[in-house]
Amino acid sequence: MKLPDELKQEALEIVATLHDYVQLQRERGLKTVPVSAPPAAEKAAPGAIPSPLKKDALRDVREEIGDCTRCRLHAGRKNIVFGTGNPDARLVFVGEGPGEEEDLQAEPFVGKAGQLLTRMIQAIQLDRSEVYIANVVKCRPPDNRDPQEDEMATCLPFLKKQLAVIRPRIVCTLGRFSTQALLGTKEGITKLRGRFQRLENGIMVMPTYHPSFLLRSPEKKREAWEDLQKVQKEYQAGP
Ligand code: SF4
Repeated sequence: MKLPDELKQEALEIVATLHDYVQLQRERGLKTVPVSAPPAAEKAAPGAIPSPLKKDALRDVREEIGDCTRCRLHAGRKNIVFGTGNPDARLVFVGEGPGEEEDLQAEPFVGKAGQLLTRMIQAIQLDRSEVYIANVVKCRPPDNRDPQEDEMATCLPFLKKQLAVIRPRIVCTLGRFSTQALLGTKEGITKLRGRFQRLENGIMVMPTYHPSFLLRSPEKKREAWEDLQKVQKEYQAGP
């Protein structure tokens, strides 16, 4: 990953300052330099990308995707829908794939389901700009059919790279496909929803219903609200 020159310069200045400080302590006869450990909550996860570099790192992932033809979904797409939002988000929403509007606008969740997702985000006292939103497959399946297993398997590594850059505390998977793809399970969303699970890298995953499903089945909104309240509680509990 590229390191911008000014950050490199800043890092060199910090090292030089530290060197001067250690030298001064030595001259004073001190053999050790007292340092205070940051509180556990502030410690970066091992391998975490510093916040100022996340935007560039996500751009690198997008560049890697390129004008992708790795699966058959490329044939009918107008745009690759990479993902949008805060590169340093603590909460990421993941759907299955773009619909017609999303394909046209190259942005996830901008149609009716997207408007409902926006309201769901606001209901937990957050703004769309604070979270990150992406899909498992980045190209629209024809006629909004379900993404197929091999298409999801081909595209999933890019979502995983996005998550590795962002390192959110929580991922809220929307619907069966994103939940099954991320958790590597065949269980249905009705069984999986409402319970946090943890990925290998420590990210917590809360599966809930897809907003499109909620538009068709409004009686399920109450369960989705319960899931979101758990997300809100967890979001507020930690860094
Ligand atoms: S869905 Fe993913 S893997 Fe398939 S063509 Fe689009 S970007 Fe490539």
